Amino acid sequence: MNDLPFNRPYRTGREAARVATVLDGGWTGGNGPRSARCERLLEQLTHTRRALLTHSCTGALEMAALLVGVGPGDEVIMPSFTFVSTANAFVLRGATPVFVDIDPATLNIEPEHVLAAITAKTKAIVAMHYGGVGCDMPALSTIAGDHGLTLIEDAAQGVGATLDGRALGAIGDLGALSFHETKNVSCGEGGALLINDERWVDRAETLQEKGTNRSRFSRGEIDHYTWVDVGSSFLMSDLSAALLVDQLELVGEITAARLKIWNAYKAGLQPLQSAGLLELATIPPAARHNAHLYRVLARDRAARDRLIETLATEGIRAYFHYVPLHSSPGGARFGRVHGPMDVTDSAAGRLVRLPLWVGMTAADVARVVDALRRLAVASGPHTAQDGRLRSDE
Ligand SMILES: *Cc1c(COP(=O)(O)O)cnc(C)c1O
Repeated sequence: MNDLPFNRPYRTGREAARVATVLDGGWTGGNGPRSARCERLLEQLTHTRRALLTHSCTGALEMAALLVGVGPGDEVIMPSFTFVSTANAFVLRGATPVFVDIDPATLNIEPEHVLAAITAKTKAIVAMHYGGVGCDMPALSTIAGDHGLTLIEDAAQGVGATLDGRALGAIGDLGALSFHETKNVSCGEGGALLINDERWVDRAETLQEKGTNRSRFSRGEIDHYTWVDVGSSFLMSDLSAALLVDQLELVGEITAARLKIWNAYKAGLQPLQSAGLLELATIPPAARHNAHLYRVLARDRAARDRLIETLATEGIRAYFHYVPLHSSPGGARFGRVHGPMDVTDSAAGRLVRLPLWVGMTAADVARVVDALRRLAVASGPHTAQDGRLRSDE
């Protein structure tokens, strides 16, 4: 049997021609014509005030931390079940990430735990939309509003997804997107900062351009540019942006193709959930997700590890994640936990992500479903108690 890879970046087939055109045109640096085109497309797609392309979502989150102005002594509430960049952006500024537990259905940050973690030092909340399924933004917005906190979205996985009809990344004050190789819409390395609040636009442009007012100079608003503030180079090369333009124009098609695969998994695996053999994701009615990933929860860690190993022997690449930040050496050193971590610990120990990429066939999906069916049946059903999330794992 051929190997079934976990991910394959989407390709339009026009990549080489696009890169050649940029090379002919001369400008391969940041904030060139293709970057501008991507930013306008993102602003239309998400209905945000301003989109700025960055070299990564990590960079966009670092810009968000600079804009919020957090420093030593400040606290930022976030899930522990997320990628390291969510926390590192704030740790780089000397702030303390405060990790809280997630909702068992979506594995997204739980507003009730956010509320309980607020102290006089809290400056911001970061919501990470896991798998492109929107967090409970109405509840988080209310909490942020009531306590004067900035609400930041790590929408790295959320390109093309909405909540109550609003694009993920454009609901809070600031949003960060990723166009990394592994994301739905990609250009190798890349990201964007969505700025939903007018008061931050000027400063964000300065931070992106090494602390200079070069963006204003490029628009002809001033006759030379100079150093005006702190900053760094958060730019994306116009070579990457040339690849990204095509993908952004196709985001609807990419999402639809991924959803088809996602729904085929769901239909194929539903019987296993009904039989108590696996737990599937629940999508809240307000969320239109983008099928960023397909994940299942096994009965326990041992069953999960067996599942991944056995799939690998059949050439099917499946992976777990995350090592929760609070249980990593960095998390222990730089952050702290508030409240329970039962759902996070349980989910992180039982989760498996299955192959999902545009170009996978119905037969590919059937092959994975079939393998899971054989494995799950062989490992036996959950007991009623096993079906619940347990804290003793
Ligand atoms: C992928 C990802 C990132 C990092 O994105 P880069 O573009 O690689 O920096 C950050 N947060 C989450 C939740 C992600 O999934």
